[in-house]
Amino acid sequence: MSEHRAPLPPETSARGIAERVRAGDLTAERAAREAFARGDQAKVGPEGLNALLWSDRAATVAAAHGHGTQSDFVDRGELAGVPIAVKDNIATLSLPTSCGSRILEGYVSPFEATAITRLRNAGATIVGKTNMDEFAMGSSTENSAFGPTRNPRDCSRVPGGSSGGSAAVVAAGMVPIALGSETGGSVRQPAAFCGIVGVKPTYGRVSRYGLVAFASSLDQIGVFGATVDDAALALQTIAGRDVMDATSADLPVERYAEAAGASLSGLVVGRPKEYFPEFLDARIREKCDRAFDAFRSLGAEVRDVSLPHTDLAIPVYYIVAPAEASSNLARFDGVRYGVRVPGDGLAATYEATRSRGFGKEVTRRILLGAYVLSAGYYDAYYRKAQQVRTLIADDFRTVFASGVHLLFTPTTPSPAFPIGAKADPYEMYLSDIFTATANLAGVPAMSQPIGTVDGLPIGGQLIAPHFDEARMFGAAYALEAALGAEALR
Ligand code: GLN
Repeated sequence: MSEHRAPLPPETSARGIAERVRAGDLTAERAAREAFARGDQAKVGPEGLNALLWSDRAATVAAAHGHGTQSDFVDRGELAGVPIAVKDNIATLSLPTSCGSRILEGYVSPFEATAITRLRNAGATIVGKTNMDEFAMGSSTENSAFGPTRNPRDCSRVPGGSSGGSAAVVAAGMVPIALGSETGGSVRQPAAFCGIVGVKPTYGRVSRYGLVAFASSLDQIGVFGATVDDAALALQTIAGRDVMDATSADLPVERYAEAAGASLSGLVVGRPKEYFPEFLDARIREKCDRAFDAFRSLGAEVRDVSLPHTDLAIPVYYIVAPAEASSNLARFDGVRYGVRVPGDGLAATYEATRSRGFGKEVTRRILLGAYVLSAGYYDAYYRKAQQVRTLIADDFRTVFASGVHLLFTPTTPSPAFPIGAKADPYEMYLSDIFTATANLAGVPAMSQPIGTVDGLPIGGQLIAPHFDEARMFGAAYALEAALGAEALR
């Protein structure tokens, strides 16, 4: 399983499956069965990759069968019969939503996320919930209360995180599409580590109704695809205004899948020097250079640019995100949701439930967040971090206002690391140095495979101005086509 595999064959792509279902050559029920069979083969369960936490094969296949017989319109949907896996912090009605945490073990949501409703209305079948770092805090999926997920490209390595389970089921070939969530790189980094496509939309592009909140000024649902096209089809289905989420933008949603074949002539692609520091692995730099050459040969101009506040992103992120998390996670008190560990009185019950229910990293974040928000330190840390966050956002605004259309960078400073290699939390936090910036600025960004180093996938990242996902997808489709099989070498 350590061999780097090509993306799914065309007939198991999202487009391929949906076309066959619409043509009547395949039923949604059969497509669901085949997805589970591919999952079995790749051992996505607890005894293997440990990527899939919760699934109910019989119920899923029966529901897919119901689609075909009862609601014809679903069988004509853009994602008719397409099997999709979902990160375990996105609410689904029929399967648990545990957020990878003991504190929500066995919890089943009474409502479903808008993104899920939209996928189902387009004909998709939700096949299961995927493993993740507890409450999406981590970069390796080692922080799950249900054990770490393994990288399908090399089982001794992490798949990245926090949406590692979703990345792994796509990379293992079970499904062409999966949902993840991003607060500081949690879709792009695992996509890079697993050799697939991962997209973080603009803040406000996708409804967060039903996404369990981590850091509300950063959180966004994102998509994984085996290819750029799978990701484009997924995003155009879930994007757009939702009355259930006041932060969702009331802007028209482009058909991202129509960006395929767009010309790059006249496009200006920025190369921000801060994303190519001296310590960057020379082989990663080389893969990026090959991508820049591809952009040039497609008619784009590559321009050196600077985003001077980039190195402040990690310190700022690790103040803002824990601060918001400490407030959002206050609701898990043993009274309203999930597990309760009774104590002597209310305060003791809170304490017992939270100490037993939360893992080490979540506890660290809550303590950190409460500290930076406390009366004596608010100005020194939280207010200062917010001010620096504005500078980081301004860096992007300035560079995009100067005539640069998109930025291209490595997604991560290294390929997937071995399980257990980053015991020091700060080391782990540094995995997100090239990705957390886009979350702080709110701009859309995506990762796609651009080559391998020692047989491990390397991701290249495109970053676009707010709500310019269509142009970002145009460049991604073009780069994917230009690199062809080289993206796997
Ligand atoms: N790795 C980052 C963290 O631990 C980002 C997580 C995320 O995007 N959900 O917070």
